Amino acid sequence: MDSELYDVTIIGGGPTGLFASFYGGLRDLKVKIIDSLPQLGGQLMELYPDKYIYDIGGIPKVLAKDLVANLVEQAAYSNPTICLEETAIALERLPDYFALTTDKDVHYSKTILLTSGIGSFQPRKLNVPGASEYEGKNLHYKVKSLENFKGSDVLVLGGGDSALDWSLMLEGVASKVTICHRREFTAHEMTIQQLQNSTVQVKTPYGIKEVIGDGEKIEEVVIMSKDKTEERITADHVLVNYGNVASLGPLKEWGLEMEKNSVVVNEKMETSVEGIYAAGDVCTHDGKVKLIAVGFGEVPIAISHIKAFIDPKARVQPKHSTSIFEEVK
Ligand SMILES: Cc1cc2nc3c(=O)[nH]c(=O)nc-3n(C[C@H](O)[C@H](O)[C@H](O)COP(=O)(O)OP(=O)(O)OC[C@H]3O[C@@H](n4cnc5c(N)ncnc54)[C@H](O)[C@@H]3O)c2cc1C
Repeated sequence: MDSELYDVTIIGGGPTGLFASFYGGLRDLKVKIIDSLPQLGGQLMELYPDKYIYDIGGIPKVLAKDLVANLVEQAAYSNPTICLEETAIALERLPDYFALTTDKDVHYSKTILLTSGIGSFQPRKLNVPGASEYEGKNLHYKVKSLENFKGSDVLVLGGGDSALDWSLMLEGVASKVTICHRREFTAHEMTIQQLQNSTVQVKTPYGIKEVIGDGEKIEEVVIMSKDKTEERITADHVLVNYGNVASLGPLKEWGLEMEKNSVVVNEKMETSVEGIYAAGDVCTHDGKVKLIAVGFGEVPIAISHIKAFIDPKARVQPKHSTSIFEEVK
């Protein structure tokens, strides 16, 4: 447990949160970042790492993953404590600071900056009778370690990049890998080609009808073709890769003024609760548009007012970075 008191805890390590970490460093704040995903970068890394972005000022074209790599490097300036795979759940206001409860820990912070975008991402579940009772047993939504699948019969469900990538990675570890998808694969052409040249058994187009097990583990999965022909696939493990759904979830219960699923902020990027600020896609105000560039613009406003909130003697207007760094060419 980290019982240290931070100046600002940033909930969400997407582009806005990462830039806020850098800016927190510029204003000499002690920074923590919390994100429910296993990696930093928010939507850019989770949804479109290999797409080009064209509307960041001064950068004609950049791959989403390259922009994130630069942001992560820049964010390190504040030497932030980074907590990944941790979801913020409850927030309690104590007399002088906040106690933030996540699914793993309790964190203490003088202020909170919400940069949680469209919310935390959760895996899209396998929605067939009986499936949920095997979660955490032999029905998986994540691969924690390939070793867990060594010598096993694995059924992978899904048809995107991650389903195909895991199938190919499991090929060398598992005794047998089968991939089943109800449509054509949507992964990169090269990955589809690799799959076709592999020993992975392909079942498309097949939907999932039900899972059959003994209460402890799934033993068979019933799949069904378009003409309603049923087939039973035996499996030691079932790995589901149906992508993610995002939801603001518990943040909606924190008593903040909300408008259409977004947190309302004033011109200081302050929410309706003193000490809680918001920036990026999660927030709304008059004239708001949801873009990376807008999140970047909101960060210096939020962090400068956070600085002034913590230290009323501090200037709101930050010094220019050119005078802070004074690097000689
Ligand atoms: C396919 C696609 C293409 C796009 N192209 C462009 C483009 O060309 N230009 C552009 O400007 N914008 C584009 N966007 C929009 C852009 O990605 C968003 O505006 C941007 O990601 C918002 O950044 P953010 O940091 O505010 O939020 P996000 O990127 O959503 O990051 C929020 C982070 O908060 C985390 N989080 C949420 N809730 C919690 C919680 N309770 N606990 C812990 N962590 C939490 C999430 O896991 C996530 O990592 C595109 C979006 C998509 C989907």
